[in-house]
Amino acid sequence: MDNRRINTTLRATDNRRAWLRVGTLIDGTSSKPFRNAHVVFDKNEFLFIGENSPPANLLNPNQREPDLDLPDFTLLPGLIEAHAHLFLEGGELNLEKRAAHLKKSPEELLKLSKVRLEKLVRLGIIAVRDAGDKDGVGLALSKLYSSANRSPMPYVDSPGVAINHQGRYGSFISGPIENFASLKDCVEARVKAGADRIKLIATSSINFEKGAVTSKPQMTAEEIHELVSAAKLFGKQTFAHASGDAGIENAIEGGVDSVEHGFFIRDDQLAKMRDRQIGWVPTFVPVQKQLEHAKLLGWNSQVISNLKKILAQHIASLVKAQKIGVQIIAGSDAGAFGVAHGIGLIDELELMERAGLSPLAVINSVTGTSSNRLAFKEKFGQIKSGFQSRFILTSHSPLEKISNLRMEKFVIFDGEVFESDEHFGSTGL
Ligand SMILES: [Zn+2]
Repeated sequence: MDNRRINTTLRATDNRRAWLRVGTLIDGTSSKPFRNAHVVFDKNEFLFIGENSPPANLLNPNQREPDLDLPDFTLLPGLIEAHAHLFLEGGELNLEKRAAHLKKSPEELLKLSKVRLEKLVRLGIIAVRDAGDKDGVGLALSKLYSSANRSPMPYVDSPGVAINHQGRYGSFISGPIENFASLKDCVEARVKAGADRIKLIATSSINFEKGAVTSKPQMTAEEIHELVSAAKLFGKQTFAHASGDAGIENAIEGGVDSVEHGFFIRDDQLAKMRDRQIGWVPTFVPVQKQLEHAKLLGWNSQVISNLKKILAQHIASLVKAQKIGVQIIAGSDAGAFGVAHGIGLIDELELMERAGLSPLAVINSVTGTSSNRLAFKEKFGQIKSGFQSRFILTSHSPLEKISNLRMEKFVIFDGEVFESDEHFGSTGL
């Protein structure tokens, strides 16, 4: 199939509908792909998905045949990055430059973030759930997305400033509860600032030298419950940074919508998360990158051995979670050391596959499960009638191996067609 023909046919969706027949279709939620599927869409949304020809009333007048028949292509939803810090450049490995970056003005950080964000569409990433920053970069991007005159960019939503306790971990993305008279006031202030959801820093991060989370949980179950209840009053979801089983327990008992990271999670906690429909965003990449760049970071053999153990335990938990039916949601923690925006998400998906998930399970975690669980304001991440027609079309089937998502592909986004090649740099794009 001639690339130019695919490009022009799919682009012409402004005043007419496009009708495709594809060899393989992944809808984002089903436990198997569909073969030889018919797909009708316009610039905004999918109108028909099915095994048989679409009804005439959904087609352009007098159209009898698909515009394109692509037996060797796979069609899948655009990817959702469920955990990224848009204000940080994760691909930057120079520690001095990273520190200097944090000192840039909010305006400058926003300018750099916007450029990075717009490029993600070419990789097939159509939505980003920002996980917080203290300078309002994520919120500004979320507002920009909602504005009328914007260039093609992924959907973005953001919690704005995350919530932590005074003097505890997370000050680079958070503001303390102690600035407010009550937990409810704190949540209300975030909502008034424009937060799309509420981010809690429920624990510290991992102490790699000790191979554990060594400080006590930052928030109690009661505090989390109160924050979650306040968020619900405003119709907002809550997501909690939580590693170490004590802090994870508090997040679960507090009733958050999703546990982020969740290193050292116990099997009984996974079962509780399944029963209570709490999503899990395991974020393998940031720890994997600590291992890959151990020499640069000056980690000794003890730390390296700790990192390997942590990852091995996380892999076992992921497999267990998949087996028992926890809602697993892919997010890379892009912005963290070594985790580039864009390509970091593909790294995460590959690690999930390497851990033992099937490519289809991995794709569902980065599309349909995410869109079903995270209550985004728009409908994307699934190939179903009524969902936005933002999708990937590729002759390199990701069902063979996830790394095929790195290969050249078409990304259809609001009636535009982006062709991406496989040359992505270390800073993501
Ligand atoms: Zn994070």
